[in-house]
Amino acid sequence: MYRMMNRKYDVVVVGAGPTGSTAARICAKSGLKTLLLEEQAHIGYPVQCAGLLSNHAFNECEVSDSSVFNTVSGAVIKAGEAQCSFDAGKTMAYVVDRGALDREMAIHCADTGAEIQLKTIARELSRTERIVRVKGLYGTEEIKYSMLIAADGPRSIISRALGIPNAPVYLSGLQCDVKIHGDTDHVHIFPNASPDFFAWKIPLDSEHARVGLCGLVNVRERFLSFIHPYRNHCIHFVSGTIPLGTKTRTYDDRILICGDAAAMAKPTSGGGVYTGIRAARHAAATAISAIENDDYSRSMMAGYEKAWKKDFGHEIRKGFSFFRIRGQISPPEMEKMVQTLSDHHIREIIVSKGDMDRPSRLITSLLANPRMIPAYAVLMKAWFSSMKNG
Ligand SMILES: Cc1cc2nc3c(=O)[nH]c(=O)nc-3n(C[C@H](O)[C@H](O)[C@H](O)COP(=O)(O)OP(=O)(O)OC[C@H]3O[C@@H](n4cnc5c(N)ncnc54)[C@H](O)[C@@H]3O)c2cc1C
Repeated sequence: MYRMMNRKYDVVVVGAGPTGSTAARICAKSGLKTLLLEEQAHIGYPVQCAGLLSNHAFNECEVSDSSVFNTVSGAVIKAGEAQCSFDAGKTMAYVVDRGALDREMAIHCADTGAEIQLKTIARELSRTERIVRVKGLYGTEEIKYSMLIAADGPRSIISRALGIPNAPVYLSGLQCDVKIHGDTDHVHIFPNASPDFFAWKIPLDSEHARVGLCGLVNVRERFLSFIHPYRNHCIHFVSGTIPLGTKTRTYDDRILICGDAAAMAKPTSGGGVYTGIRAARHAAATAISAIENDDYSRSMMAGYEKAWKKDFGHEIRKGFSFFRIRGQISPPEMEKMVQTLSDHHIREIIVSKGDMDRPSRLITSLLANPRMIPAYAVLMKAWFSSMKNG
């Protein structure tokens, strides 16, 4: 039995990750009575992230630098005998403690006046009554909303309750922090250690790094093989899922879905903090406008989907095509690709046009460059295979 606590909010946000905290903070700041629900007792934990954020992504979080372990200025890609490296000579990305980052974002959210209810899981919805049923610290409750924002991550209960089909792809990821001495300025990428995605080594400081990978199949085996040299030195272990390809629908009657709950992570890197926060901003703007204008029409809700698609939808669409193509490139072909990328002029283009959050411009420039001709055969074959395999 659910207790009716007679609690009613303008906006209820489910999930206190970066997406949910941003949406709730903006709604509360505009004066709306806002409740942020989080099933965990400790915001930010368990961590399910490598904590690599581009400058833009980090700025979108609007936090201090207290969660920052390190900054990096470039990357090294290694495939077989081939290697290429890029260095912008300035900070290109931040390496953060995701637990601490999420916690600071939630604190800012609480400071604006949003109520936060931890250890409370959203379990069911009644769209007709505009009620979310929760279970937690205060037992079972029914909480009424005018607008609901679902930021409840990869396994989104809200999205499932609305009958929205799963994302087209779910990547699995495994990672551990280990003691390693080495390069602190570059992220190291190993595409052949996980041939449908990639593995990484991200420096935390001069003595520690995060090593991990994401993939579609044999992820545990690939991971154990990749971390073999450090297997008995794991300080912190992370496992998680990244939905890719966006959900077919990201809104419903008075409900907006954003971040991993809507499968908005970038398919080229698996990074979802930037897109989640961008979507949260659009969701908050729509919720505020709906409440202020007493307009909960379908076209008002659809405005949210239009806004995020205009902002970064094309990046996800193109990125997803590249994700499919990448999955068709064999390790020897990848070695050839990396050799091609190691050309001095190509590396200059990568440094000048590289943008972790919006990689499509770089990819288009690279493909139009005659120095990429040695890679065309590999890419064309992979493209045909990806089309054939759907
Ligand atoms: C191994 C790995 C490495 C990654 N590395 C990076 C990276 O380097 N950079 C990057 O940008 N992204 C990375 N990502 C992706 C990134 O972690 C996610 O895209 C990001 O966390 C999405 O944020 P979110 O707020 O939408 O969802 P989440 O961060 O998943 O937050 C959802 C919140 O909702 C809560 N919740 C879920 N269900 C309920 C419920 N029913 N009721 C109440 N609360 C609920 C959860 O406890 C959680 O706190 C990585 C992911 C993995 C798995």
